[in-house]
Amino acid sequence: MKRISIFGATGSIGQSTLDLIGRRMDDFQVVVLTGGANIAQLAGDALKFRPELVVTAYPEKLDDLRAALEGSGIECAAGQDALVEAATRPADWIMSAIVGVAGLAPGLKALEQGTTLALANKESLVTAGPLLLDTARKHGATILPVDSEHSAIFQGLVGEEMSAVERIIITASGGAFRDWPIEDLRNATCAQASTHPNWDMGQRITIDSASMFNKALEVIETKEFFGCDPKMIEVLVHPESLIHALVGFNDGALIAHVGAPDMRHAIGYALNWPDRAHLPVERLDLAAIGRMTFRAPDDTRYPALRLAREVMETGGLSGAVLNGAKERALDHFIAGRIRFTDMADLVAGALDQLSRRNTLHLPVTLDNVAQLDHLARKAADQIAMDLVT
Ligand code: NDP
Repeated sequence: MKRISIFGATGSIGQSTLDLIGRRMDDFQVVVLTGGANIAQLAGDALKFRPELVVTAYPEKLDDLRAALEGSGIECAAGQDALVEAATRPADWIMSAIVGVAGLAPGLKALEQGTTLALANKESLVTAGPLLLDTARKHGATILPVDSEHSAIFQGLVGEEMSAVERIIITASGGAFRDWPIEDLRNATCAQASTHPNWDMGQRITIDSASMFNKALEVIETKEFFGCDPKMIEVLVHPESLIHALVGFNDGALIAHVGAPDMRHAIGYALNWPDRAHLPVERLDLAAIGRMTFRAPDDTRYPALRLAREVMETGGLSGAVLNGAKERALDHFIAGRIRFTDMADLVAGALDQLSRRNTLHLPVTLDNVAQLDHLARKAADQIAMDLVT
């Protein structure tokens, strides 16, 4: 039986992971489940999957969690330290699906145990790529990508040498506003930005798709994970979201990964890796689909892509700044304080400010990532305030 822990079990990726595990209960033993505020979901899943330990990120929720699991014999804990400690519980496979930079410390701790980390938490690679990869190397741990594009690239590279790869093409749906006139983006509302044309995801990541900040994170993630020259990475708008990524080789061949937009595909690939196993995902009928379309992304419509290139060139802690500032920009947009198009200006401003303070090239450590994340949020707040007043 494979021992499995799921960090961020109550979220969209966590629930899809549990869906797959629930279909093969005899093959898996759940060790740890973690969540945040959604205690009803966490406790319900704990009673179904019977882990050894359940952790909520929030200490003030511990009493509710204990009450919900009373008499079950399942251990309960709370807080960020408890999350990190939970990553030391022996497990063969750990899903990193906490949202945001909070996922970094538990993921690093898991890698220090030499385990296999299925990495959905893209912020880990964006903010601390070198630290994550060094830790994995040092402890003989394996990182498996779970973001659908990175899983697609990973699958395209099976049996191949990186030296034969000329380019990596990541597709993007183009988000909610891909067909809007650029001049209308300024007035786009939060409700309009929160509807994704193809994927069913949470509100924040859906808005990040509309602004392409999600793709910006993925481009940086690609550079970090596959260790490739940023110039090799291309973004291609593909409104149907059926091809997730393509790998281009030195003989001109392009290997594409084609599949239904369902995260259980990438999660299932990581869960069964290095084998493949049956997955309950839609089988595509290409004849019925008929055609797939592609177009080049426009940097004026999607300034986030330009910012991602800037971050890849700068390196160091600039990814932590982009991510932190982007999170705050998103908070301000959701709260109605800034416009959709202001989000990129907040991020660009934060990158500029912190670069001028020479903070981007401090060593990539957990403490420095936290510090730069904090400074980036502060800078973004200040720029937002200047815009409002
Ligand atoms: P969700 O917001 O749906 O879930 C996030 C999870 O993290 C929940 O379990 C949540 O708990 C928990 N959580 C929230 N805040 C904290 C915190 N401060 N400390 C610890 N745990 C916390 O996110 P998704 O599942 O959509 O995404 C998870 C990660 O995977 C993200 O990094 C995302 O970018 C990435 N990803 C997501 C994809 C998707 O299709 N959704 C696709 C590819 C990558 P609770 O809900 O109980 O508060």
